[in-house]
Amino acid sequence: MESGMEEIPVKVAVRIRPLLSKEVLHNHQVCVRLVPNTQQIIIGKDRAFTFDFVFGKNSTQEEVYTVCIKPLLVSLTEGYNATVFAYGQTGSGKTYTIGGGHIASVAEDEKGIIPRAIQELFQHISENRNIDFHVKVSYIEVYKEELRDLLELETSVKELHIREDEKGNTGRISALKFGVLCFSCVPKLFLASPEKAYSLLTLEIFRI
Ligand code: ADP
Ligand code: MG
Repeated sequence: MESGMEEIPVKVAVRIRPLLSKEVLHNHQVCVRLVPNTQQIIIGKDRAFTFDFVFGKNSTQEEVYTVCIKPLLVSLTEGYNATVFAYGQTGSGKTYTIGGGHIASVAEDEKGIIPRAIQELFQHISENRNIDFHVKVSYIEVYKEELRDLLELETSVKELHIREDEKGNTGRISALKFGVLCFSCVPKLFLASPEKAYSLLTLEIFRI
């Protein structure tokens, strides 16, 4: 790092998904590749882009979790906040990677980030019986400009607003329900999630 440059707390990973069988069937071509031993990808013939992490088409869910998420989970249990979100065009693999689908029906090694993070969080809690943790959860869907509370589907869309604090920072969502999270209630939580939604799971963890 150059002197005087501050470390940027936002890190960006790119994951290339394999062609789907219907794409192979329609003779679609791969247009993006990794440059070996770098954090670069090349789109088309020669357009190179550099990221903090790159994952190729054969990368596993475990690899993505271990490299990008596990360090954040360690910090989380030490009291630091962390946010992970997936973005990209429809069909690029966000839901698959984040693991926000119906997790109860997904094979163990296909599980994405959310179920892995929750499992590890509760494992950490059970291994630290001398510390009392309290885990609060909220689960929202952002679709176009609207927010929906997936823990309280009756809350009308109009009641949910992102509020700014007095300094103009965007912060809390009004009227959002928080639940107390226990490990066994997690699969039920995900059944509330519609198939095609952008959803945001927030965990707040307190050491008491
Ligand atoms: P998005 O949520 O971005 O719209 P999806 O996660 O639904 O995209 O992915 C689109 C399709 O590609 C799904 O059928 C999904 O199972 C598949 N897919 C995505 N990423 C991968 C991957 N890394 N390996 C295998 N299949 C994948
Ligand atoms: Mg999706």
